[in-house]
Amino acid sequence: MEHKLIIYNTLTRKKEKFVPLHPDIVGMYVCGPTVYSDVHLGNCRTFVSFDLIFRYLLYLGYKVRYVRNITDAGHLEGDQDEGDDKFAKKAKLLQLEPMEIVQKYTIGFHDVLRMFNTLPPSIEPTATGHISEQIEMVQDIIKNGFAYEVNGSVYFDVDKYIKENNYTILTNRNLEDMLNNTRELGGQDEKRGRLDFALWIKAKPEHIMRWPSPWGIGFPGWHIECSAMSRKYLGDQFDIHGGGMDLAATHHTNEIAQSQACNHTTPAQYWMHTNMLTVNGARMSKSSGNGFLPGELFTGNHPLLEKGYSPMAVRFFMLQAHYRSTLDFSNEALDAADKGYKRLMTAVNLLDKIPASKSTSIVDFNQLKLRAFAAMDDDFNSPVLIAELFEVVRIINSLFDGKLTITASDLQELKDFIQQTVFDILGLKDDQINDADNIDDLMQIIINIRNEAKTNKDFVTSDRIRQHLSSIGIQLKDNKEGTLWNKI
Ligand SMILES: [Zn+2]
Repeated sequence: MEHKLIIYNTLTRKKEKFVPLHPDIVGMYVCGPTVYSDVHLGNCRTFVSFDLIFRYLLYLGYKVRYVRNITDAGHLEGDQDEGDDKFAKKAKLLQLEPMEIVQKYTIGFHDVLRMFNTLPPSIEPTATGHISEQIEMVQDIIKNGFAYEVNGSVYFDVDKYIKENNYTILTNRNLEDMLNNTRELGGQDEKRGRLDFALWIKAKPEHIMRWPSPWGIGFPGWHIECSAMSRKYLGDQFDIHGGGMDLAATHHTNEIAQSQACNHTTPAQYWMHTNMLTVNGARMSKSSGNGFLPGELFTGNHPLLEKGYSPMAVRFFMLQAHYRSTLDFSNEALDAADKGYKRLMTAVNLLDKIPASKSTSIVDFNQLKLRAFAAMDDDFNSPVLIAELFEVVRIINSLFDGKLTITASDLQELKDFIQQTVFDILGLKDDQINDADNIDDLMQIIINIRNEAKTNKDFVTSDRIRQHLSSIGIQLKDNKEGTLWNKI
């Protein structure tokens, strides 16, 4: 099947045919988490979206180098150029080493992403592991005349950069507006221009995380880490750079300026941004009390949630919206997604029970397949793919009911399609199989039937239930409170 992948490029504000720099190889960099607190759901959505993108590129046959960093230094309070390091601040508060904070939340981040069944990136570099690369890049930018040192800190010279380059190329913002709306970002008395930003920051005596540099003891600015690490692992130019859309205006704008000033080229050809999460129509944020963590969503342990949802139901819910659309969390929408996910998995599990016939009575399955992949080729349109999959659910149910027939080879083709789309591309898995809660519910139904039989003095049925359960390794114990069960 011929694929013509189209990607919406934030840089050009239009959909473009995807042509990698090197045939068959894709370099992709995605801004990872700042690991000083639990990963929030907005971040999870971004990483689930890029997991879908990664998986589809792999499905298309590309060899993909997917780099996603861990920010473990240099990200200051309020994204500013002055103030406490987020890790150091938390470390002081909890009387821990900053690296204990980093370790704790990196493990937590990986645990949550594993529950969402995301594939690990090819390389996951840390900012603290790449200090020398960052220093080297700052030196190159100074050498090229786009940065200057003041009192042990180094700033990027935006005024100078603007004369030769389009600083706001990514978001197309008006420079006048930007100047008028710029907040005081710290180090203002040292900066030549209002939009200048820090590449290297002199460490105050109380600052815990510090490294020697040509400009004295200090630590890197937040933006330089991604430029230095993408350059190291993907080269001066690579294919895709991604992240949440809140990063475009400052972080990614500054990344482009740094790379251009250092390497004389924009780093990535395609810039991709995922949209925000909302809760009941309002932007999700911890401070307004409407933000919940992934763990709270899984257990239902939050005032806004009526119950918990499995990680796979949540992943399915996320993929039912296009990555560039906002995604609104509400109990009704989550319930609907949960039902849809279960319907899909139930149908998938019926596939092995469908008998082969002499002929196939399904019409237009090939057209359906073409539509499903055409949707993914059109800027990774997973909601359209999922809509086509519900057509397949209807087909599978009709095959199981005997209303439709299928030959052995067509059945294999159907199974291959489900494997490719449901499992390989959407990255779903069946989390119902080993669901202990479900087994409990199931056993309670069986125990109730047996107790009813006993009450009706139908001992043949009640004994038969006990024997059958025993033959599959389940033991029943009757006591005063009722009947308990356990595995032998
Ligand atoms: Zn970044």
